[in-house]
Formats: sequence, structure tokens, C-alpha cells
Amino acid sequence: MTQASDIRDNEVAVQAPTPSDAALTYIGRIHTPWQTRKECPRQGDSEDGPVCELEIFEPWGAALEGVEELERIQVLYWLHEARRDLVKQSPGNTGMTKGTFAIRSPVRPNPIGISVVTLVARNGNRLQVRGLDCLDGTPLLDLKPERCPHKH
Ligand code: SAM
Repeated sequence: MTQASDIRDNEVAVQAPTPSDAALTYIGRIHTPWQTRKECPRQGDSEDGPVCELEIFEPWGAALEGVEELERIQVLYWLHEARRDLVKQSPGNTGMTKGTFAIRSPVRPNPIGISVVTLVARNGNRLQVRGLDCLDGTPLLDLKPERCPHKH
């Protein structure tokens, strides 16, 4: 969980406003082998990673129709253990800082993670995929094809 001490030298936190709108619905949960942030790969999108599972909650199962035809799926998830108040960060604790919007750190005002995964199999409301980088139990926000199949 986020700790007040969870900040590195040269990083800058602000008094972030209390989130009040854009209520999101978690459409499912992500099952991965990783219980701590340190164990997670730094970045997903890799076809070599272990098979992970996207569990879709009802009533959203019907929204999966056609998903099995996709090879690559964009997955959006809520990085629920990330703090949300840093504007400058020091990736890799190097002492060099960058603005939050210039990096893909999980720490951001709205901690939305995006990975493009490879679909391995679909079993009902469960999709087996490769290419994730998140903790076991991470809430799932959305799925969409990597690209629009037809441009009009
Ligand atoms: N691929 C996504 C993106 O680019 O938007 C996320 C990238 S982020 C650098 C991935 C890192 O976030 C992991 O290595 C891990 O340290 C951390 N992380 C993973 N799941 C998390 C969660 N549920 N809450 C907070 N941090 C998480």
C-alpha cells in the first residue's frame, strides 16, 4: 500500500484534490503470478511473459462476444496500490527527475495502466493472455482491440 515514506530523494508530491467524479466500474479482476510491485515486470506488452487471466464480472460477459477473434487486445486497468500525488518522479531512483506525464510510472493522478496483450484462450468469462505487468487482483477497467479492424 502507499506509504507517506514511499517517496525518493528529488521527487515532488503535491496536495492532490480529492477525486470526486468520473466514477469507474470495475469490469473484472486480473490474476497474475505477482504479489508485490517489485516482482512485476516493469512493462508489459511482451509475448514472452507468463499466462495471466482476465476475469470478467457479470453482467459484462455478453460484451466479450467476438473477443476470441482478436489476436492482440488493449487492456486498461486501475493500478490500485499507486499513490496519486507525485508531479516529479525519479524512475529507478537515479536522482534524475522527470515530470509524471513524461513517464509510464504507475504513480499518476489517475493510475490507469495500459498494456497490449496476446490472447491465448477464452474460457467463458475468463481470458488467458500474455503481456501483463500488474499485481494479482488488479481491477480491470476495459478491453478493446489493439487497432480498429476497419477504417471507415
Ligand atoms: N503497462 C502499464 C502502462 O504502461 O500504462 C503499466 C506500467 S507500470 C510502469 C508497471 C509497474 O506498475 C509494475 O512494474 C509494478 O511496479 C507497478 N504495478 C503493477 N500493478 C500495480 C497495482 N495494481 N498498483 C500499483 N502499482 C502496480
